[in-house]
Amino acid sequence: TIYFVDGQFTDKDGVRISIDDRGYYFGDGVYEVVKVYNGELFTAQEHMARLLESASKVKMAVPYTEQQLIGIAEELMKKNDIDTGHVYMQVTRGASARVHHFPDMNVPPVVTGYAIVNPRPVLNLQEGVAAKTVEDIRWLRCDIKSLNLLGNVMAKQEAHEAGCVEAIFVRDGIVMEGSSSNMFGILNGIVYTHPATNLILNGITRQVVLEICAELDIPVLEKEFTLEELYMMDEFIMTSTTAEVTPVITIDNKKIGSGVPGPITKKLQEAFAKKLPLTVTG
Ligand code: PLP
Repeated sequence: TIYFVDGQFTDKDGVRISIDDRGYYFGDGVYEVVKVYNGELFTAQEHMARLLESASKVKMAVPYTEQQLIGIAEELMKKNDIDTGHVYMQVTRGASARVHHFPDMNVPPVVTGYAIVNPRPVLNLQEGVAAKTVEDIRWLRCDIKSLNLLGNVMAKQEAHEAGCVEAIFVRDGIVMEGSSSNMFGILNGIVYTHPATNLILNGITRQVVLEICAELDIPVLEKEFTLEELYMMDEFIMTSTTAEVTPVITIDNKKIGSGVPGPITKKLQEAFAKKLPLTVTG
């Protein structure tokens, strides 16, 4: 794997990161994952715009423009010869002796990245997955794609131990999002999803799905719904850069609808696949 570290492309042996990096001490940084299909980045501009937005929300300067970040992601994809996979990029507030407050102005942020092969989750897309609800113990700025993922890690582990693919965060009885995905319920032909507030990450895939709903005249309500309402949904889906539009067929061991991917789910999946830079579908 070829990595990007501080302006240079290098193999793993050439990577030098300080033990004083604030990403390591505090999770003081932000990141993005961009999917590659057929040797092309998908929604790279949206991802890099969000990286800059996340950085700005934590008062971190990124030494690259959106276009330069896309350029780095493209280089990583090419140098690693990725056909189907993803590019990971992160920015930390740099290396400095461990004190909580921001380091001196002259401490540069550390930008790193890599690209890796990652096939589409074909089986999950076709058959659907199981999920488990967990209490949302995270902070109140989930709109920031921060390296601080302990709440997400704990939730995913709980789901994993229960044999589930994803954890669904519930805060005060309201369904928020997944530990690394956004959640949509479908009831009587209407698509419900939590509004893009400070309590969820406004996923790029979420935004693509909302765009698809508008194009297909599928009614959408970006509106809170409860755990009880979740169990009543006809269909349920999770979305993310790597999970795409994955049907969720059981939640807390209860079947959603008839327990198989439903008609609106399939329609959304089909429309999503059409937006991807694929030569052959499937
Ligand atoms: N919500 C959380 C907490 C995430 O970590 C992610 C992505 O990893 C998402 C939602 C989905 O975002 P995107 O569609 O931009 O990948």
